[in-house]
Amino acid sequence: MTETKAVENYVDWVRDAHAMEEQAEAMLSRMAERLEHYPELKSRILQHIEETKEQQHLVKTVLDRLDTSRSVLKDAAGKISAMGQAMGGMFASDEVVKGAISGYVFEQLEIASYTALIAAAQVVGDDEGVQTFTRIRSQEQEMAQWLSEHLPEVTQAFLQRADDPDSEAKR
Ligand code: MG
Ligand code: FE
Repeated sequence: MTETKAVENYVDWVRDAHAMEEQAEAMLSRMAERLEHYPELKSRILQHIEETKEQQHLVKTVLDRLDTSRSVLKDAAGKISAMGQAMGGMFASDEVVKGAISGYVFEQLEIASYTALIAAAQVVGDDEGVQTFTRIRSQEQEMAQWLSEHLPEVTQAFLQRADDPDSEAKR
């Protein structure tokens, strides 16, 4: 692939996506570790952690193919977006309802990021990238939909537990 500005931007964005997935894994893991009383939510999060690890690998494969001459690993330390960081803080919330809301918001960030990446991959003619990012985006859409559908019951369970003197509601 010729090194046009378009390619340069595309490669940067793929690198950002890899950093985003590392951040996703860290946030989901923190939340799963803390959850005690919401087994369905916990198990869906654990499932998405496995998907997220696979996504990291898939994104890295695209990156390695595009970016053999550059330092691939500098993403983890350097290039995490301000938006992602702000949401990382939200997701670290100790309370299940806020955590589920933030999880949903983070999935929307991922969906939008892969939508832009797919469009960029089309511009530079990276067909494999189009396929990979479309596949990943479907997993993010499924996770977002699951969280959106289960938010009412998580909220109601939280409120019920909050009024039960014998139970611990928060997580
Ligand atoms: Mg992801
Ligand atoms: Fe995700």
